[in-house]
Amino acid sequence: MSRTARLMDGTGLARRIVEETAKRAADITERTGTAPCLATVLVGEDPASVTYVRMKQNRCRKAGIESRHVALPAATTAAELVDTLGALSGDPGVHGILLQHPMGPHIDERAAFEAIAPRKDVDGVTLASFSAMSFGLPGFTSCTPGGIMRLLDEYDVDPAGKRAVVVGRSAILGKPVGMLLLGRDATVTYCHSRTADLSSVVREADIVVAAVGRPRLIRGQDIKPGAVVIDAGYNPGNVGDVDFDTARERAGLITPVPGGVGPMTIATLLAQTVEAAGRQLAAPA
Ligand code: NAP
Repeated sequence: MSRTARLMDGTGLARRIVEETAKRAADITERTGTAPCLATVLVGEDPASVTYVRMKQNRCRKAGIESRHVALPAATTAAELVDTLGALSGDPGVHGILLQHPMGPHIDERAAFEAIAPRKDVDGVTLASFSAMSFGLPGFTSCTPGGIMRLLDEYDVDPAGKRAVVVGRSAILGKPVGMLLLGRDATVTYCHSRTADLSSVVREADIVVAAVGRPRLIRGQDIKPGAVVIDAGYNPGNVGDVDFDTARERAGLITPVPGGVGPMTIATLLAQTVEAAGRQLAAPA
C-alpha cells in the first residue's frame, strides 16, 4: 500500500511567527519610543544578494521593524568593512546586523563576521553565537537551523533518542543544525562530500536534514519508512536537495520546496531582531 507523508507547512508557521513578532515590535515601539532596527550590509551588487536583502527589508517593514541599509562598493577592503560593522555594533539605534554573504574573494569573511557584536548578531554568524548555541546558552542561532528546530517543534517531533543525519556541514546550516539536534538529545551523524556510501547512512535516519545544494541528491529509496525529512536545499527551479516525489512515499513528515524551510529562515531573522531590540532597550550597553 502506498502512503504519502504529511507536509510540514513552513509558510503557515512562518506567517504566525511574523504576526507574533510584529505585535512584539509594536509593543516595544510603544513602550520605548524606539522601533527595532535591523541594519543590512551588502558589499557589491551581486543580483541574487541584492534581491535577498531587498526581500528582508520589505519583510522588516511589514513587521514594524525599521531597516537601515548600508551598500558598499565591490572594491571595499576587509578593513573598511570591519570598520563599518564596528560602527553599527556601537550604534544604539541599530539592534540587529545582517551581513549579506558571499562578499567576494578578497574579503576574509570570518574577520568580517567577528566584527559584529554578538548581542546584535541576529543572523547567528559569529563564533560567539555558535559557541553559545552549542553549549545551550542564551544567544542567537543561525536563522535556517533555528527555523528548522521550530518547525520540528510545531509538528511535535522530539529529537531525543532519534538518529539524525545531517547532510552538509556548512558553518551557517549543516554544522549548527547538527549542534541544535545534539542539544535536544538526538544521536547526530554529519555527512559531507567525502562521506562514503551516503545512501546507507541516510537510510538509518529517523530525521534527515538535507543541506547540500545538490538538486534531488537524496532519493526516496534512501529514506527510512516514517522518517522526518527536512529539505533545506534551494536549487535553481525551486528544487530541493531531496527528490520530493519519491521521498514523500516513504517519509512520515516532509518539508516541501518551496514553502518548507525557506520561509522559516526569514521569520527567525525577524523574531531574533525584535528579541535583540527588546534586550538592548531594556538594558542599554
Ligand atoms: P555549502 O556551504 O555549499 O555547503 C554544502 C555542503 O554540502 C558541504 O558541507 C559539502 O561538503 C556538502 N556536499 C556537497 N556535495 C555533497 C555530496 N555529493 N554528498 C554529500 N555532501 C555534499 O551550502 P549551504 O550554504 O550550507 O547551503 C546548502 C543548501 O541549502 C543550498 O541549496 C542553499 O541554497 C540552501 N540554503 C537554504 C536556506 C534557506 O533559507 N532555505 C538558507 C541557506 C542555505 P564539504 O563540506 O565536504 O564540501
